[in-house]
Amino acid sequence: MNPKRIVIVGGVAGGASAAARARRLSEDAEIIVLERGPHVSFANCGLPYFIGGEIGSRDSLLVQTPESLKARFNLDVRPWTEALEIRAEAREVSTRNVRTGETSVLPYDALVIATGASPVRPPIPGIDRPGHFVVRTVPDAERIQEWIVTRAARRAVVVGGGYIGLEMAEQLRLRGLDISLVEALPQVMAPLDPEMAAPLQEELHNNGIRLHLGDGVSAFEAPELGEGDWASVVLLKSGTRIPADLVILGLGVRPETGLARSAGLKLGATGGIAVDDQLRTSDPHIWAVGDAVEIRDPVTGSPGLIPLAGPANRQGRLAADSIFGRPGHYGGTWGTAVLRVFSMTAACTGPNERALQRAGVRYQAVHLHPQSHAGYYPGAQPIALKILYAPDSGRLLGAQAVGKDGVDKRIDVLATALQAGMTVDDLADLELAYAPPVGSAKDPVNLAGMIAQNVRDGSMPVVQWHELGAHLAERAILLDVRTAPERAEGAIPGSRHIPLHDLRTRLAELSADHDIVVHCATGQRSYYATRLLNHHGRRAFNLSGAFRTWKAAKDAGWIPSQTS
Ligand code: FAD
Repeated sequence: MNPKRIVIVGGVAGGASAAARARRLSEDAEIIVLERGPHVSFANCGLPYFIGGEIGSRDSLLVQTPESLKARFNLDVRPWTEALEIRAEAREVSTRNVRTGETSVLPYDALVIATGASPVRPPIPGIDRPGHFVVRTVPDAERIQEWIVTRAARRAVVVGGGYIGLEMAEQLRLRGLDISLVEALPQVMAPLDPEMAAPLQEELHNNGIRLHLGDGVSAFEAPELGEGDWASVVLLKSGTRIPADLVILGLGVRPETGLARSAGLKLGATGGIAVDDQLRTSDPHIWAVGDAVEIRDPVTGSPGLIPLAGPANRQGRLAADSIFGRPGHYGGTWGTAVLRVFSMTAACTGPNERALQRAGVRYQAVHLHPQSHAGYYPGAQPIALKILYAPDSGRLLGAQAVGKDGVDKRIDVLATALQAGMTVDDLADLELAYAPPVGSAKDPVNLAGMIAQNVRDGSMPVVQWHELGAHLAERAILLDVRTAPERAEGAIPGSRHIPLHDLRTRLAELSADHDIVVHCATGQRSYYATRLLNHHGRRAFNLSGAFRTWKAAKDAGWIPSQTS
């Protein structure tokens, strides 16, 4: 295909990438970008940091302007221009200038839909009250800034514990506001498994953010007489009332598919635009990219919606390639994501346990708590790391990590391994850069692979934190092999204590009739103990992630008291 005119609807992540790539592939094509907002190619991911003040100037968010895109790429960028309807048969799109109301019709040879996703606004009574904001565009961010200043806002409620909600909670807190975070699920950051989200929740709590988990909003009300001059009082399903000067709605996003519907394009099961592996829609002259499209999870094969900037940018480039008939295909979206909350970073790649269960994919999990760099070099921080892999083949299925240092680098390595179809044996063998201030000779990624190898070859059977109750009900002995001072700081109720270095001489104290579940602080010493017990003919298991993972799950309320 050698299109004379390419029209791109949406001028931010996916749309701008498609436009710039198309120009690099053809100097002749006319490339028109329609954007209904005032800005193109702006840094929407930076909005929370502009609101919080870490990004000092609004202009830093404007990565390109229509003028710079004209000068550099000869793109015809039309801000304030909304695409209203696609007439696919006639290959034309109708447009309207949102400021003047002027309409026109634009024929195309190839069209790219990059309309993104719009924030969800469920029909909760009072949701449209003044002082309620979504965070999607630069004007949204400016409105929030202005409201905070003019109202001298002191208290905010953030509704939604996904990454936008958490980033906003962090940034408003850093501005000195008093924050309540409301999340209907019993945890924040749904892509993480609950024990991995627990350290994030602790970090939020430690920084003064009040968490209301497992509690949805039932209404936003006007303050009652004498209650104060609040913008809203947020009424939770539990009956809790939280007054607020402003409310941030971070309730997720929904793909913008109005245009695709107008063209009669096929939508997927999740409501996103259905595309093939070249991002082509059901119409051969229309491509779609970014948050608006339905993707396939390469691990589970399930359709999904994963609104992230990396996939949108890569898809934009690929769609342009496809328009010009170049080879290449989109392999799916793994959902690799990272989030910073105060001093903590959380990151993940691939599906979590819940997603694997939903898709009926068999998996095994291991948890570990390595140091971010050599323990003897100052400043090492623990990382809570979890990998999921196929029990039969050992193929990596997903990974999650939380900690104060070195989290992003481990997840990026694991994301690369995941996409390459590597196994846990490959992880154990990876040669990774090491010097004491930045890593370990056995990197956490290597260790994760080695631990999984031990589980797979039977040399270290594991019990997960959520399986412990069932083992104890079967009268297994829970054995703590930490030192006495460590145990004094907290222990799992019902556990017996024999420090690792006494275990050989005190074996007789452990009844031979029962299984033994061993734990230490992180799983390393309990691995040695498990081996020792196995060599002595005992059925022993290592508690995966040991005391730290158990405690994270317990503190977050996932372990009922009677099984603890
Ligand atoms: P967008 O970038 O949203 O662009 C769509 C554009 O289309 C919009 O400007 C819209 O005005 C325009 N449009 C829609 N309909 C029409 C129409 N009919 N006519 C004309 N124009 C139209 N992702 C990450 O990976 N990491 C992050 O840290 C991160 N942080 C984020 C923080 C915030 C506050 C937000 C809002 C998003 C964040 N994201 C992040 C998500 C990321 O920004 C999106 O996944 C990405 O921008 C999607 O690109 P897109 O091109 O599909 O849509």
